[in-house]
Amino acid sequence: MPYANLARRGVLFVLSSPSGAGKSTIARKLLAADSGITMSVSATTRPMRPGEQDGVDYHFVDLEKFRQMTADGEFLEWAHVFDNRYGTPKAPVHAALESGRDVLFDIDWQGAQQLHQQAGGDTVRVFILPPSLDELRRRLAGRGTDSEDVVARRMEQATSEISHWDGYDYVLVNDDVDRCFEQVRTILTAERLKRRRQTGLIGFTRKLMG
Ligand code: 5GP
Repeated sequence: MPYANLARRGVLFVLSSPSGAGKSTIARKLLAADSGITMSVSATTRPMRPGEQDGVDYHFVDLEKFRQMTADGEFLEWAHVFDNRYGTPKAPVHAALESGRDVLFDIDWQGAQQLHQQAGGDTVRVFILPPSLDELRRRLAGRGTDSEDVVARRMEQATSEISHWDGYDYVLVNDDVDRCFEQVRTILTAERLKRRRQTGLIGFTRKLMG
């Protein structure tokens, strides 16, 4: 059997960052460039933003439905993030792993921590930092249409997320989106090649050695 067809344990690939650090651009580029990785679509109680699609960006649910899903054990992890709840549905992750795919998670530090525990420590956690706080402030101010209070609150949330950067395996600075994207791909490639994930090769090498 060709090596490429041998089984491999899927990578649970977590990307976290404060908003404004460019994480969603990197995630989008990765999904477009690599057919072996699937996005985990979270459920959330937050209202849909313009341009978002239910079932694509998130599963938008009300609080009652979210509570029901939590009680039914449907989440791998869930957390309060700012004023809303967000959770990772378990079933699609299991289905993706069973079909030999890797899974990409865009979740916050609380989710990364819980997922890491759920997976017995077998996750790859990547944190993306903005180039500087000034640049972050500039990005969060957006088109300048938001009030100073709103921008200040976003900055506060971003710095609070950054304070958890030490719970990650890799930390990247996104001062150039293409370079940062290449670094993310390099990490994914290296993690896929780790010996403990090459479950098919274990049997293969045993046979090879008689
Ligand atoms: P936003 O509302 O801007 O889409 O996301 C806000 C934050 O919630 C982001 O940091 C995002 O990574 C995080 N988030 C999205 N989905 C989940 C999830 O399923 N679990 C957790 N713990 N965080 C999530």
